Amino acid sequence: MKVTEHIEKANGNTQFSFEILPPLKGQNIDSIFESIDPLMEFNPPFIDVTYHREEYIYKELEDGLLRKQVVRKRPGTVGICAAIQNKYNVDAIPHILCGGFTKEDTENFLIDLGFLGIDNVMALRGDAVKSETYFTPEKEGHAYASDLVKQISKLNQGIYLEEELQNTAPTDFCIGVAGYPEKHLEAPSMESDIYFLKKKIKKGATYIVTQMFFDNKKYFNFVDKCREAGITVPIIPGLKPLATKKQLNMIPHRFSVELPDDLVMAVVQCADNKAVRQVGIEWCVQQSKELIDAGVPVLHYYSMGKSDNIREIASQVF
Ligand code: FAD
Repeated sequence: MKVTEHIEKANGNTQFSFEILPPLKGQNIDSIFESIDPLMEFNPPFIDVTYHREEYIYKELEDGLLRKQVVRKRPGTVGICAAIQNKYNVDAIPHILCGGFTKEDTENFLIDLGFLGIDNVMALRGDAVKSETYFTPEKEGHAYASDLVKQISKLNQGIYLEEELQNTAPTDFCIGVAGYPEKHLEAPSMESDIYFLKKKIKKGATYIVTQMFFDNKKYFNFVDKCREAGITVPIIPGLKPLATKKQLNMIPHRFSVELPDDLVMAVVQCADNKAVRQVGIEWCVQQSKELIDAGVPVLHYYSMGKSDNIREIASQVF
């Protein structure tokens, strides 16, 4: 079922959902099931599975020269989605990127998803590869998520890249896109970011999931600005409970978000990461309760592979 249908069916009640990462290459899929199992009692209507593009590593050869090698550390997005739908009978949402994909790759990827009975996709640009400062699309690929949304929407109308194909079967994907309550790192202003967000909706996206935020005011302001700009689709808040001291530096740097002073000081005063985990849970419970009171359609948690804290939060909130 489509995300938009799940939201409609819930009749104004806030639903619980979460995002998982494929395991590192070499790991078993059981590690994924172990993190999903404890969360199933909260009846997620859908589970997102991230996509991780290739990275370049350099290996030193015996003669001292460096060899560039392409690695994908977390393959398996599509397989995990199929396994989730099969095992739990819950909608799995694969993330799909512009980065690393030609239009042809994208089309073939979407055909696979359609055959697997996947009804939703999260369309994203992806970040620059680690060795580059700015995002570079493939030669025959998309530069922005809005172009990817356009391709998916065309496929939903039965328009494939080979225009001479006859009697084509249209796909029927519900398309989600990313929104940034604290604006995207590269965006020169919030206004321009929302302008391009609206473009993704115009091209066919029907819901938005936000980047994580730790101050609900940022989400509420963002929703107000989106509504003023004429964006009417559901805006699902994404939440991440802090779990380690290291994240105090890593999260603002990597996701371009601010951490409120009260949260930072509470974490700084923790004796160890067990205490940080507790602070993170309590903060996220408060955020969740306020967002539910405000009537958000879904609370979407970033699990980053660990579900014990998400379980604790969900048990206090749902
Ligand atoms: P876009 O919407 O293309 O926007 C990128 C930037 O370009 C923005 O600054 C925007 O304002 C600007 N822009 C957009 N269109 C134009 C235009 N036509 N002209 C000029 N500027 C423009 N990354 C992964 O690698 N894998 C994942 O699974 C993944 N999942 C995510 C899930 C969520 C909910 C979120 C919020 C992010 C996720 N990301 C993931 C990270 C995402 O790929 C990065 O944030 C990326 O840098 C931007 O992706 P986007 O889809 O928002 O890009």
